[in-house]
Amino acid sequence: MSLLTGKNALVFGVANKRSIAWGIAQALHAHGASVGLSYAGPVLERRVRPLGESIGADFIEPCDVTDDAAIAAVAQKAGEHFGQIDILIHSIAHANRDELQGPYYHTSREGFHMALDISAYSLVALAGAFQPILRRGGALVALTYYGSEKVAPNYNVMGVAKAALEASVRYLAYDFGPQGIRVNAISAGPIRTLAAAGVSGFKSLYRHFAEVTPLKQNITIEDVGNTAVFLCSELSSQVTGQVIYVDGGYNILATTEIPQ
Ligand code: NAD
Repeated sequence: MSLLTGKNALVFGVANKRSIAWGIAQALHAHGASVGLSYAGPVLERRVRPLGESIGADFIEPCDVTDDAAIAAVAQKAGEHFGQIDILIHSIAHANRDELQGPYYHTSREGFHMALDISAYSLVALAGAFQPILRRGGALVALTYYGSEKVAPNYNVMGVAKAALEASVRYLAYDFGPQGIRVNAISAGPIRTLAAAGVSGFKSLYRHFAEVTPLKQNITIEDVGNTAVFLCSELSSQVTGQVIYVDGGYNILATTEIPQ
């Protein structure tokens, strides 16, 4: 029997085949879960639907997470379709390009609100909306980045949003613990995706990462998918409120200078 047989998973955040959410959806499916997808809006459907269908998903629904009514609607539809949900993946982030370059102090009030709303508050909103249909033994997983803890040039407001997201993971883990549901985050090293392309200087950061990280290679969406399977399975039954690094060990480095 596979690790996730009999479990229903809903994955938020597939935009295309490079999305981390897609790596996770494929891995959950490969380990036996029934997977549904939710995507941001109509323009993405053309890309997302064929991906979903290739893993047998018959729940593929839009949800703009800035819209409470859309969140309530997708939760209701998921309840009607699946009955109960065992796994909820949050792989969503957004900030204006303007905010992902230059000094952090140039962040606009509106840009700050939007980044925090889409990238951090949405986890809280989804957790609240899905709480009634989450099954005991279930797991929530969110995606974060090391720029929450240390300064990553140009990451700016997204680093602040990720700090809020990680703190939310801990508070949600506390809330959901008595319901037997675990909440964790995966802190992934840089991966070439649509969202990453918005961060100024990402390409050189990506190249440098493989040179300096202890395991000397870049991270793939498959690597992240495998850790998500662990966090959603019984293998991690007493792990909650944690940020798990999938970064080839990058976070243990005190310096990223390469000794000559
Ligand atoms: P991506 O662009 O493929 O995924 C981001 C997703 O967020 C997209 O599907 C997009 O449609 C969705 N989204 C944006 N606004 C939304 C809204 N209002 N409502 C619903 N969905 C919305 O890029 P990705 O790199 O796969 O990002 C997934 C997650 O992984 C993000 O949280 C990101 O911060 C995180 N992450 C990425 C990296 C990286 O290097 N790519 C590293 C660590 C963490």
